[in-house]
Amino acid sequence: MKYVGAHVSASGGVANAPRNAKALEANAFALFTKNQRRWEAPPLSTEVIDEFRSTCDELGFLPEQILPHDSYLINLGHPENDALEKSRTAFIDEMHRCEQLGLIYLNFHPGSHLKKIAIDDCLARIAESINIALDASQGVTAVIENTAGQGSNLGYRFEHLAQIIEGVEDKSRVGVCLDTCHAFAAGYDLRTEEDCQRTFAEFEQLVGFQYLKGMHLNDAKIKLGSRVDRHQCLGKGEIGLEVFRYIMTDNRFNEIPMVLETIDSSIWSEEIQLLRSFAL
Ligand SMILES: [Zn+2]
Ligand SMILES: [Zn+2]
Repeated sequence: MKYVGAHVSASGGVANAPRNAKALEANAFALFTKNQRRWEAPPLSTEVIDEFRSTCDELGFLPEQILPHDSYLINLGHPENDALEKSRTAFIDEMHRCEQLGLIYLNFHPGSHLKKIAIDDCLARIAESINIALDASQGVTAVIENTAGQGSNLGYRFEHLAQIIEGVEDKSRVGVCLDTCHAFAAGYDLRTEEDCQRTFAEFEQLVGFQYLKGMHLNDAKIKLGSRVDRHQCLGKGEIGLEVFRYIMTDNRFNEIPMVLETIDSSIWSEEIQLLRSFAL
């Protein structure tokens, strides 16, 4: 079974996210459980939590079909201890929000060294941040997203993801989300079936599909290896449609939330239909 959807708006309350997903005829969705551009957020009230849970129940969304994303401000590999502490506290709060909502994943960008520490040091800080967050929470898996490698962001090589996982004590609660646009921007070709075979074989060898907990399905506005993060609608960018056909017909991508973060939300339902048509 393929779970396909989009990163939908939760504006007006988190329970609107499953409603927005249902309107797209999606069977997966991503959401922010708080404003993604702010540090502080009011705690989730019992009413809001109950409404989210009952709406998901009614509309048929299981926790394994939902991929919450954390705030863009958090840097779990921050080189400065005070700022690292602030990020760790905010990340634990995000984990708790997921826990309260009955969710089992939290998707996040690993972190940035800001050109102040070595890559290995930054990756070790990220792994330690995950260990701290897992100790402080229950039932939520930390899902590391591969990045485009823009600026000093780490996680653009599969080796980075593997190294972070290596440093995590509880391997049962760490996973990976692969973003096709980010992978392509980082230099992993996905344009032909052979490219897909090679890239995903490399992922299997270095990380392993047992850690794959989600996908972000995006075409890319930018060239292969450009290390710039610019999403595009499916089939309208530099990657093209083949990778999405590949993913939709390969069983290694079953039973994980796969969500669009493409730039035109008005055609998400058509993009979801297109993806489903590949699986037939
Ligand atoms: Zn992301
Ligand atoms: Zn993404």
